[in-house]
Parts: sequence; structure tokens; C-alpha cells
Amino acid sequence: MRVAVVTVGDELLSGDTVDTNASWLCNRLDDRGVSVERITTVPDRIADIARVVNEYRAEYDAVLVTGGVGPTHDDVTMDGVAAAFGRDVVPNEAAEAWIADHGDYTAADLTEGTAHLPDGARMLPNPEGVAPGAALDSVYVLPGVPVEMKAMFETVADEFEGERRYVEEVRTTEPESALIARLDGVQERFDVAVGSYPGESVRLKVIAADTETARAAADWLRERVDLAAEVEQPEQGDAQTGE
Ligand code: AMP
Ligand code: MG
Repeated sequence: MRVAVVTVGDELLSGDTVDTNASWLCNRLDDRGVSVERITTVPDRIADIARVVNEYRAEYDAVLVTGGVGPTHDDVTMDGVAAAFGRDVVPNEAAEAWIADHGDYTAADLTEGTAHLPDGARMLPNPEGVAPGAALDSVYVLPGVPVEMKAMFETVADEFEGERRYVEEVRTTEPESALIARLDGVQERFDVAVGSYPGESVRLKVIAADTETARAAADWLRERVDLAAEVEQPEQGDAQTGE
């Protein structure tokens, strides 16, 4: 499964807010074996949202949109997504009922538009807040508030599936330029992809379709590179398998 992530918000583009939603979503999707092929940030502007959603829904199996969801005047994401489908934003009965059941208020007490979704959308309940999200065909609209975005994503996580992948990590003190022959060598001998990420040490990420291959390839490398001191390695081994 190939997906695109679209984050919406003027505050992301001005640098006021760090786009942690994109990296969190990419991590969760990667865990599930889903390949994220685009992250695009757009301003709170209907035409920009509509254009990118339209392009990406044609290209990818799913599009995840976060931010600009809610009752204030600058929250126009639902309008942008509706425009991408040539639909209106209309009162959504399921959203109204959910709001009435899950708070001390009805949709009528809330700011006009809180329960309005693109026509024909499936309402996604917000386990951590009021404003509902929406799913329309392959496009998922989630709130921007990180705690709400995460909780809502988990309610639809099962709809994102890809091939299981197993990851092993090897850290080396050698410079990237010195590693080329061994990186070629490991990929010739084993059915793996290897990512190389320089930092204080170089992090080599060995990715395979099964755990034995990932381990064997990582061990082959470990025997042939100068290893960096052990550091926390949260992505190692089976921990990063999909469902
Ligand atoms: P919004 O849904 O756009 O009204 O955003 C609500 C809150 O969530 C604001 O404080 C935003 O700064 C924050 N937020 C929105 N998008 C993101 C994002 N991509 N990453 C981190 N925080 C975000
Ligand atoms: Mg916003």
C-alpha cells in the first residue's frame, strides 16, 4: 500500500509549529508495512488543499490529511477535501449524534460547522476531542491537535496494511564513503534494502521480508564494519513488524 500524507496549517509553514504529525504518521504507517511516498504541507487555503488532495488520491492508495479541522474560521480542510471531490460540506447526522452522545452538549451548542463534513463522508469519531474527522473514499481527514490525531488514526489503523518488513540496525564509526563496497556486498548476498544515515555515527538500516534474512545480513555487516558504541536502538529486530 502506498500513501501520501498532507499536513495543513499556516503555522507549519511559518515555522511556529513543528510538523510532528507527519513524522508520527509515517512511523505508524511504516510499522504496518505501508509505504509513505509523499509528505506535503499546504496553507489553510481551500484551493491548495483541494488541488493536492485531488492529485494524491489519483496517485496513491490512500491520502491522510491532518490539521485545519474544527470550528474556527481558519479551519477549512473539510471544505478543501469536499472541493477535491466536487461535493458540498453538509451537516452529518452521524457526527451530530456522536457529539450529542459524547458530551454535555448537542451539535447546536457548538460553533456552526463542527458537525459538517463533505457530503457522503464517513464520520470518524474523535476519541480525544469534539471535532469529528472524515473518511471519503481513500481520503482520511484527521484533526491537527496531535493527541486527537493519534487517537483518531488508531481507530482506522486497520485500514492501512502493507507487506511485513523486518529491520535490523547497525551503527558504525566509519564514514559513509568508506562503506560503499560493503553496502553493495551485503545487497548482493542477501535480499535486503539498506539505508545509510550519517550522523554522529553512520546508522545502517537493513530491511528484509523476513527476520532471518534481516539478521543474517546485519550480522554479515557487523563482522565487517567498525561498530559504534551501543546506543538505544528502538527499531531493532522484530519490534518494527507490521500486523
Ligand atoms: P488545527 O487542527 O489546524 O486547528 O490545529 C490545532 C493545533 O494542532 C494547533 O496548535 C496546531 O499547531 C497543532 N497542529 C496542527 N497540525 C500539526 C502538525 N502537523 N504537527 C504538530 N502539531 C500540529
Ligand atoms: Mg490550523
